[in-house]
Amino acid sequence: MNSYIERVIGKVNAKYPYQPEFCQTVEEVLSSLDTVVERHPEYEKVDLLGRMVEPERMFSFRVVWQDDKGFAHTQNGYRCQFNGAIGPYKGGLRFQKNVNPSVMKFLAFEQTFKNSLTGLSMGGGKGGADFDPTGKSDDEIMRFCQSFIQALYRYIGPDTDVPAGDMGVGGREIGYMFGEYRRLKGNFENGTFTGKGFSYGGSLIRPEATGYGSVYYLENVLKHDGEQLAGKTIACAGFGNVTWGICKKATELGAKVVTLSGPDGYVYDPDGVNTPEKIDYLVEMRNSGRNKVQDYADKFGAEFHAGEKPWGVKADIIMPSAMQNDVHMDSAEKIVANKVRYYIEVANMPTTNDALRYLMEQPDMIVAPSKAVNAGGVATSGLEMSQNSERLFWTADEVDRQLHRIMDTIYENSVQAAERNGLGYNLVAGANIAGFERVADAMMAQGLF
Ligand code: GLU
Repeated sequence: MNSYIERVIGKVNAKYPYQPEFCQTVEEVLSSLDTVVERHPEYEKVDLLGRMVEPERMFSFRVVWQDDKGFAHTQNGYRCQFNGAIGPYKGGLRFQKNVNPSVMKFLAFEQTFKNSLTGLSMGGGKGGADFDPTGKSDDEIMRFCQSFIQALYRYIGPDTDVPAGDMGVGGREIGYMFGEYRRLKGNFENGTFTGKGFSYGGSLIRPEATGYGSVYYLENVLKHDGEQLAGKTIACAGFGNVTWGICKKATELGAKVVTLSGPDGYVYDPDGVNTPEKIDYLVEMRNSGRNKVQDYADKFGAEFHAGEKPWGVKADIIMPSAMQNDVHMDSAEKIVANKVRYYIEVANMPTTNDALRYLMEQPDMIVAPSKAVNAGGVATSGLEMSQNSERLFWTADEVDRQLHRIMDTIYENSVQAAERNGLGYNLVAGANIAGFERVADAMMAQGLF
């Protein structure tokens, strides 16, 4: 490996041993950049990589909220404004009990490259809180969102930092946060957030966009392989917004999602999650706040496997669409033993680095990386920002058409970046290189800071 890259990875590991997810993503991204950095010795002089692995700014704040019985609770809130070289910071907010500085930084770092890949003008950011929405009442959620924004509102804005949803944050939470933001600022400010409701500036197709985009990307992979989506089976994880979008689009295109998962285990439905009733039920399960996938198995008579992950199931395509580090070496070995050809990451960093390397080494496997596959979500957020600033409202078809075009371009740019660097058909390295190059050029142009 290039010695400058090695040194930067080494420094991050030494400096942040207590931030394992962040160290993991830095290693994953930088280790793809060998040929690029070799070609640009000037990067080292201006310490481009060392600057790129440090957030421009990151802050944490106290969020106090009152439960329905009148008791106060104190959580930790964060916003990591990682890199603003190519546009205002942009990225979701995650409310989940395991949120911590390492998780925030890994997500914001990934976001920087993902947003760059979309070709739109969006820098990388991420935020959230260690608040667990499971079992909370609607009033409790509202009070939490309001407190969160009381701490954050000064530091975001349509040209500064544009938050959106992520795990635990959907349309309802965005509505409460935007309401509080507007109250405090006394200004609509072009919506500031994305993923808003359709009545106040939200974009059609934004809720579906991450899932739809990942299926559009997958279609490109299949086409390259002389295959098509119709008739294929897909093993997914999670049952949230992203998986819901995959189920909708996969069904429309004649494929079948056969697994879902949750913190309680996984569901195997060999008939597919492919009727409007089943697909709508995912939304109902999410809204119930129970966070249990077993409810699906009980309702539709599917198999439920308590405490297990779905990666041992035989399917044509694996799409880990739940959370980070969901697929470890033991799961990767099962996937290889099942002779799966398409491993399409969807959740942010769903694969541990050793498992990812192992899967990429398999001669008969095609691996696609999450930062490209799931970029349709944030890309459509970018389209929402455009509509807000033009004070226009595009039709669903128009947004979907643009999303489709962006996903095709991300795929093409990744393929070409890898080929240009002599790496063959390597979608993982290609996405890292293509995402990196644009941010690197912008940072070089903007001088030292
Ligand atoms: N949280 C999503 C992601 O991981 C969406 C971010 C956004 O729309 O800003 O990309």
